[in-house]
Amino acid sequence: MAGPIPNPGILDIAAYVGGEAHAPGADRLIRLASNEGAYGPSPKAMEAYKALAGEIHRYPDGHATALREAIGRRFGYDPARIVCGAGSDELLQLLTKCYAGPGSEVLYSRHGFLIYPIAAKAAGATPVAAPETGLKADVDALLARVNDRTRIVFVANPNNPTGSYLTSRELARLHAGLPRHVLLVIDAAYAEFVRLNDYSSGAEFVESFPNVVMTRTFSKLYALGGLRLGWAYCSQPVADVLNRVRGPFNVSSAAIAAGVAALEDVAFAEKSRQLNEENRAAFTRAVTAAGLTVHPSIANFVLVDFSGQLGQKADAEQARQFLKARGILVRQMGAYGLGNCLRISIGTAEEMQTVAQGLADWVHG
Ligand SMILES: *Cc1c(COP(=O)(O)O)cnc(C)c1O
Repeated sequence: MAGPIPNPGILDIAAYVGGEAHAPGADRLIRLASNEGAYGPSPKAMEAYKALAGEIHRYPDGHATALREAIGRRFGYDPARIVCGAGSDELLQLLTKCYAGPGSEVLYSRHGFLIYPIAAKAAGATPVAAPETGLKADVDALLARVNDRTRIVFVANPNNPTGSYLTSRELARLHAGLPRHVLLVIDAAYAEFVRLNDYSSGAEFVESFPNVVMTRTFSKLYALGGLRLGWAYCSQPVADVLNRVRGPFNVSSAAIAAGVAALEDVAFAEKSRQLNEENRAAFTRAVTAAGLTVHPSIANFVLVDFSGQLGQKADAEQARQFLKARGILVRQMGAYGLGNCLRISIGTAEEMQTVAQGLADWVHG
């Protein structure tokens, strides 16, 4: 039965399973399984999207110029070194295909974002997971696993699903320990949520070193996940590589227009960031009071740990089903090696009160 045979590595991939979006029977859904922006997109982004309807027979600008310039203005970066993609996912996959392959290794940390090992296998490379300390990437453990075959090190900062982060000093130490042929990809999908003095999105490393890339997304704080829009800030050589391999029209005109409008609505973004901080703190307090452990997070989700104090009740999957029966969808973590945990996105204040009550009822039920 000879047939077409995919490249080595492809059939080793356990396909990515996204967060659930349905709970049959529930009259109201609270969707907290995919870290989507809780307050929806900026009304200005929606307007820009709608205004395009009569133009969708036209191909988009293949260079996404207006968007790269808007990003450059907003953050002070050089637009020539920004590459946009259909979600940052596309850029993470392209980087892996371009810099890793059969015989090489892609390094990430044990509870890092699942796309990294998937992208490595898709490229025929070997994913290597370094152990973490206290659910946080461990710089020494990562550096100890770098060898001649290592091509890429992926760090999500802050990391999904743990919510932990490396400080800018720790990032600097990681970078300083890497040979120059290794590409450090700092996946800053949640950077917009963070206001901490010791945190860096990684942009200054991109400006100083040719072997660092920072990726960002419009799917989280900007709440445009359905449009698929992300970007990478790179050295010029890396930007040139990405521009050779990406699809010539990989970002839609709707995504470009909505992205520009979302970026320019600074007040809406800032409000979303503040609300996330407040709701995350209140939810953390409520769930802790119910007797569960919440791992500290600086992003728009928390990891709730069910192992420990509750004895026989220490079953994250049972708790997830309990919440689901109430129409509350959260993420199971078995694929991340965190089967005792659930990842819960931070929604509106009212949604989070409902979830906290649900968890308290489960604990006491
Ligand atoms: C959500 C997420 C992404 C991907 O976002 P896109 O929607 O593809 O832009 C990348 N990295 C991490 C860590 C994420 O959580």
